[in-house]
Amino acid sequence: MSGHAVEHLISGITLGILGGGQLGRMSAVAAARLGIDVVIFCPEDNAPASHVSKATVTASYDDREALQDFAGRCDYISYEFENIPVETIDYLDSLKPGCVRPTKALLEVSQDRLKEKAFLNAQGIETAQWRSVSCIEDVKAALGEWGTSAAIVKTARFGYDGKGQMKISAQQIDDGSAGAFFDKHDGQAMIMESVVPFRHEVSVVVARDIHKNTETYGPMLNEHRNHILHKTHIGDSVTGMVGTKPVDMAKKLAEAVDLTGVMTIEFFMTEDGHILANEIAPRTHNSGHWSIEACTASQFENHVRSVCGLPLGPSKPHCDAEMLNLIGDDVLEVEPYLMQNGAYVHLYGKRSVRAGRKMGHVTFLKI
Ligand code: AMP
Repeated sequence: MSGHAVEHLISGITLGILGGGQLGRMSAVAAARLGIDVVIFCPEDNAPASHVSKATVTASYDDREALQDFAGRCDYISYEFENIPVETIDYLDSLKPGCVRPTKALLEVSQDRLKEKAFLNAQGIETAQWRSVSCIEDVKAALGEWGTSAAIVKTARFGYDGKGQMKISAQQIDDGSAGAFFDKHDGQAMIMESVVPFRHEVSVVVARDIHKNTETYGPMLNEHRNHILHKTHIGDSVTGMVGTKPVDMAKKLAEAVDLTGVMTIEFFMTEDGHILANEIAPRTHNSGHWSIEACTASQFENHVRSVCGLPLGPSKPHCDAEMLNLIGDDVLEVEPYLMQNGAYVHLYGKRSVRAGRKMGHVTFLKI
């Protein structure tokens, strides 16, 4: 570590984070342990990340005066979710050149599923078969060309946890539900993907510092319910089952975008051994939460370290672990975990329980 970085750490670093959700909250907690102050910028009042940060600028992402005020308080700026307008990043970068990390190239790719798939394929990484579609006729034509009976159509932008996507076959075309889906998303760019007959869903988190050193988390084995992450498993048995290729692919992608910060890649693994990349997130990920207790430096700590120009900490887990998401009403059943040895309960400070809302998680260390 250079003397300059130590001096800076001791004299006081302030990190700005765009976005006020639980990922920002956990990065802010990791920052606090290193004596780094966090200022959150988000449009919502009382955001989970604000509860644990030094200050919050509450304004919309296009409020230039508020962005200027925010930038003036920060040494480095990062983001905790991908739907930050690229113009916001450009503007902040003009105020603090080189201090906004990761750079907008990664953000642009991960905001748009069409760009994302093209980028992955250009890196030699396999994905589901895909094409841009804008109406039912396009879907019908592609189903015919691909010789398949069903496909998944997704909005190119702003979809998450299964929102903005639909599995379409002849039945949905005939009963009008596919037409209604297109009407609902009228004017939005859409991607059509083949339905991947996956055996496993796997993710890898990679952190990369300004000197191009990397640390990785995973491979993580993910179980979803209703398109939302339910459980993540990590450890020797997972690595034995899925191998280390996903990790190598994640490192390759981090290099390809010259990452400074943290990014996550989600993969499908098929019965016949193919590894297809599904999505890139330019940030920490729900499937990496177990790293808070299981690693010397969690994904959140390495997010903070990398964007603040500090060296990464080791990410090798001390033991196998499992993470259980508390979605909606699940949080009401938290009591036994509060009393269980080896169970680490995290609640995000969200005061209203809603179906599908990520309220917290529990990490179980398998010591
Ligand atoms: P996504 O928003 O792309 O992460 O999709 C949410 C979930 O839908 C994934 O975690 C998968 O379980 C499922 N899914 C998405 N795309 C596909 C696909 N092309 N084939 C099969 N399942 C998919």
